[in-house]
Amino acid sequence: MSEGGAVDPFQDTIAAIATPPGEGGIGIVRLSGPQALEVASRIFSPSAGADPREFASHTIHRGHVVDPDSEAVLDEALLLLMRAPRSYTGEEVVELHGHGGRVSLQAILNVVLRHGARAALPGEFTRRAFLNGRLDLAQAEAVLEVVRAKTEAGLKAAVRQLQGGLSKQVQSLRGDLLSLLAVLEASLDFPEEGLEFPEVGELEKRIYRIEEGLHALIKKAREGRLLREGATVVIAGRPNVGKSSLLNALLGRERAIVSVVPGTTRDTVEEEFEIRGIPIRLIDTAGLREDGRDPVEAEGLRRTRRALEQADLTIVVVDASEQITPLDVHAWSEPKDPRILVVNKSDLPPAHSAGTYHDRFGAQPLFTSALNGQGVERLRVELRRELGGEAECEAIAMVGPRHREAFERAERLLVEARRGLGEGLSYELVSLDVRGALSALGEVLGETVTEEVLDQIFRDFCIGK
Ligand code: GDP
Repeated sequence: MSEGGAVDPFQDTIAAIATPPGEGGIGIVRLSGPQALEVASRIFSPSAGADPREFASHTIHRGHVVDPDSEAVLDEALLLLMRAPRSYTGEEVVELHGHGGRVSLQAILNVVLRHGARAALPGEFTRRAFLNGRLDLAQAEAVLEVVRAKTEAGLKAAVRQLQGGLSKQVQSLRGDLLSLLAVLEASLDFPEEGLEFPEVGELEKRIYRIEEGLHALIKKAREGRLLREGATVVIAGRPNVGKSSLLNALLGRERAIVSVVPGTTRDTVEEEFEIRGIPIRLIDTAGLREDGRDPVEAEGLRRTRRALEQADLTIVVVDASEQITPLDVHAWSEPKDPRILVVNKSDLPPAHSAGTYHDRFGAQPLFTSALNGQGVERLRVELRRELGGEAECEAIAMVGPRHREAFERAERLLVEARRGLGEGLSYELVSLDVRGALSALGEVLGETVTEEVLDQIFRDFCIGK
């Protein structure tokens, strides 16, 4: 604390339990700040009898955590020391590895907090790493993505971002913008020196190339969202039309993952699968038929509706060998776009001509047979096309909504700048737009960013990260 009572982020020492709640093999209390070792030395008694304050950086020591007030031994523990700046936060960091119980870890944390440390806020360790220049902001955000990754593809993308994948691309675009700005401003400063300046056409071309780079990043933002949050694809239709069979055909060699959410009602069964990193939910919409008076049916109806509302895409399946029923029409009309109409069991004698589906549903159907695999590949292609994830998941860096907004703003400003050049606007005005674009890219890396934005980003972290 400084004298005014305000918290100086670089003066106080923070502490938190760094391992997840519950029982574990070990549990870790982490301290970071200038007093980390000093605080630890008050509550840690090394078996070798040495003074912890003399410990060398990057060494581990066995001992006991002792409450100095009661002299009670709280746990046997290892003390791991990383002196500044060679630590995650760039500050002095001490980790106390105890036995992984919730109560014992809390006891260690409590005694640490009573002897000079303050409880860390969510994400505060990572925030300090950012403030101390150990990570740029895009990398700090990637830490959260790594922890939260739902699929292997999502994890790979997050790790790439943590290693600076996105940062490098943004820095390269910033470099291009900076040299463009240098040219524009040189011509302002030395207009009569007879220096050779690029033609307007050449400048326009350079701006356009940067716009293209931004555009590619914006495109990745959408794919990044798919990996991060997963797209919810709902396969809907009445019972027995072949939804499960179709899903299995779609999954092909891919492994089915995650959870089977047990249906609490007769008709609504939900299961979750993964196709190329995209989580897919399968639900029966038979529940839509119910009038909702029976409480069990009402619950089924509610769940079905909720799934349909959350869907990024709905595949509605009907049976080619059977007459179209009102429930089929209902299953099609309930979900919002994008929807794909699939007429399955096309290996069986058809009940209708192809044109009938178009007339009754107002959509072009895709014919499949889950039995012999016909049409399944086309459905898979259609699915990825609708979700905008045509690119290989492997190649995607994690571009989040915050980045996307900044890229879009930079792109708009560059379009303005290019238009200005074309219309013969002064370089002074044009360079204002270029500067704006530069600052937008700086936000992604955290070079120009407000406290509010930082608060917003780190609020989502857990305490101890
Ligand atoms: P769901 O209730 O909609 O999930 O339907 P299922 O996938 O359980 O399939 C119902 C029945 O239809 C099963 O006996 C499947 O073997 C059969 N079936 C599913 N797809 C096809 C298909 O394309 N052709 C044929 N002939 N039978 C299919």
